[in-house]
Amino acid sequence: MARVYNFSAGPAVLPEEVLKEAADEMLDYRGTGMSVMEMSHRSKAYDTIIKEAEADLRELMNIPDNYKVLFLQGGASQQFAMIPMNLMKNGVADYIVTGQWAKKAYQEACIYGKANKIASSEDKTFSYIPDCSDLPISEDADYVYICENNTIYGTKFKTLPNTKGKTLVADVSSCFLSEPVDVTKYGVIYGGVQKNIGPAGVVIVIIREDLITDDVLPGTPTMLKYKTHADNDSLYNTPPAYGIYICGKVFKWLKKRGGLEKMKEYNEKKAKILYDFLDESKLFKGTVRKEDRSLMNVPFVTGNEELDAKFVKESKEAGFENLKGHRTVGGMRASIYNAMPIEGVEKLVEFMKKFEESV
Ligand SMILES: *Cc1c(COP(=O)(O)O)cnc(C)c1O
Repeated sequence: MARVYNFSAGPAVLPEEVLKEAADEMLDYRGTGMSVMEMSHRSKAYDTIIKEAEADLRELMNIPDNYKVLFLQGGASQQFAMIPMNLMKNGVADYIVTGQWAKKAYQEACIYGKANKIASSEDKTFSYIPDCSDLPISEDADYVYICENNTIYGTKFKTLPNTKGKTLVADVSSCFLSEPVDVTKYGVIYGGVQKNIGPAGVVIVIIREDLITDDVLPGTPTMLKYKTHADNDSLYNTPPAYGIYICGKVFKWLKKRGGLEKMKEYNEKKAKILYDFLDESKLFKGTVRKEDRSLMNVPFVTGNEELDAKFVKESKEAGFENLKGHRTVGGMRASIYNAMPIEGVEKLVEFMKKFEESV
């Protein structure tokens, strides 16, 4: 068996310990004689799995009691519609557009109401986070929307925007559980789990209870109402049961490693190795304004497309997978999520140094 260092932006690397444990339990989950994949989502064994997953996530993120945790499907992209459908009581929302995912969310919201783009960093290929300390927040905005970590461009909000009292909604797909957060600052925190938590197919929504109502846009399908899922503890219909089970294992792995404070320290240490090298390299350059750099997604270029392609090819041959940048940015991107061991980043930097010397 040869595992590679997988720098994919998502679906992405998962902790080996978790994968091994899942493998051990594949045919017979703890004496049930069946796999979790084959199990009724109404069974006692599954009830324990989903309840423990929620309890562990609540503990990790210190989620207050007046927030619901929902395990849903449809990916982060489905939330682009669910958010306006459920939250646009006045039909107005403000969007801060810092990348493709925020832009898609904004465009989707335009279908359902008046979405205002109140700030953007598109003028410089989304390479920075705009100043959000005094934005023209709409008087009647139902919420202010951000994508907190921009997976494609490698930027992260280091301070949350001043929403002037309006509800903050955040897509945290690619920074979920990478560091501690103050949940009380948000109305909704959500993310697809395939970036930093588990297998594709699960999206986790953490939502303040007062935002869960029957007062949704006319025509909202039952399945797209937060209330449907909140009233049924994410078991209104068959949930993505196996995916939730793996997420639960990752939550336990994070707890064992000391929780989110410890993960933040580890992630900072990892990212620093790569950023320090990029800052001193004569060949490779980071593409993001320094103060806005993400701990999770690190895009970089050589400035020469042929050299970029050569690097991607040779790095793959050396066991570093998925370093090719997003098609809209070019160059390279190393996604160094929670489960990427520090050795992976150290070895990547060694490889980059050798590459630099060889060209
Ligand atoms: C990957 C990603 C998405 C899209 O996720 P899907 O689950 O494929 O819909 C949305 N937002 C961010 C920040 C992402 O990284």
